[in-house]
Amino acid sequence: MNAAVEVLQSSHQYINRDRLWQSLMELAKLGATVKGGVCRLALTDLDRQARDLFVQWCEAAGCTVTVDGIGNIFARRPGRNPALPPVMTGSHIDTQPTGGKFDGCFGVLAGLEVLRTLNDLKLDTEAPLEVVVWTNEEGSRFPPCMMGSGVFAEKFTLEATLAKTDAEGLSVGEALNAIGYAGSRPVSGHRVGAYFEAHIEQGPILEDERKTIGVVLGALGQKWFDLTLRGVEAHAGPTPMHLRKDALVGAAAVVAAINRAALSHQPHACGTVGCLQAYPGSRNVIPGEVRMTLDFRHLEPARLDSMIAEVRQVIDNTCEEHGLSFELTPTADFPPLYFDPACVDAVRGAAQGLGLSHMDIVSGAGHDAIFVAELGPAGMIFVPCEGGISHNEIENADPDDLAAGCAVLLRAMLAASQAIAHGKT
Ligand SMILES: [Zn+2]
Repeated sequence: MNAAVEVLQSSHQYINRDRLWQSLMELAKLGATVKGGVCRLALTDLDRQARDLFVQWCEAAGCTVTVDGIGNIFARRPGRNPALPPVMTGSHIDTQPTGGKFDGCFGVLAGLEVLRTLNDLKLDTEAPLEVVVWTNEEGSRFPPCMMGSGVFAEKFTLEATLAKTDAEGLSVGEALNAIGYAGSRPVSGHRVGAYFEAHIEQGPILEDERKTIGVVLGALGQKWFDLTLRGVEAHAGPTPMHLRKDALVGAAAVVAAINRAALSHQPHACGTVGCLQAYPGSRNVIPGEVRMTLDFRHLEPARLDSMIAEVRQVIDNTCEEHGLSFELTPTADFPPLYFDPACVDAVRGAAQGLGLSHMDIVSGAGHDAIFVAELGPAGMIFVPCEGGISHNEIENADPDDLAAGCAVLLRAMLAASQAIAHGKT
């Protein structure tokens, strides 16, 4: 076993919990809201200040910093063998308009803390290490989300992405230039030795199960639809029940069906109607039209399709029963993703080696790691967040849990560096 892994195998006392926490609190001052959250939208001047602070910290830690054409920032700590592809980690530092201090920022600063810890211990790695800040993961100012990692993984072209605009008509390219983060490093063609992303869970499972580490197996596949049901608007008094064509009554059956379908395809199934509008929206008019969104998620493609087929059947039946017509339009289709088994094992092995309680988990949300996984072996580490709450100003996490997640990240990255050096990837 390599000396670095030996030094770190007995405990995670080497991670400086307070330094990690202080860095998170320092970063959270940029865009701090009165309710204790953070509003730091992508490519704003606050984002520039946060990026500048990250770059300053990385340079102080001895890293070489480069920026690519979509503004992704790469802080590199050299390895003994510069020819090896880097072991990468990272996340994002943009937030939702009413975001918290930990979503994304934890993954970035856990990466920085890994480098700082290795510096403290004067340990070198075989492969170079890189901490990345991915541009615009949230997509709240400039859709789509996971923009920077998407360009890096060649899911989106640079040219089309730079032309995307915000609500004021300002383009991504203009905003990048304005904050000085339109870099010269090519956006694509990079080798990824391995990629690990630490993240707060953004859900309640770890807290509920009283586990410190989530070993992320993959991410749920998602299929989204817009559904419109059409009946006939009519007066709520003079129209007897048996002669109505009430679109909202049909919609109610669909809402119940999607919930039932998800419950009957556990584990790892979700079904949600997030938006529903009834028209014309008057208390004494029978709704003639309902527009709603359907969101299906599952880890297994066949089960995802079964859920959809079950709901489809209910739509047919309820339209028949209530004299309605409908239109069902697919709006998104993301296949399920399974992380690299060696990376998953590295995360689980690190948690076990550190004596941390852990469980296998899947991600219901999108993350940069899902795109980076297209370029090389990738894995994720989840830590609990208070009440499972995220994308909210009250988002909170325990400093000990964050340090534990960071310790797992350190060990997983060291293990990956060893594996790359021995040609195991
Ligand atoms: Zn995030």
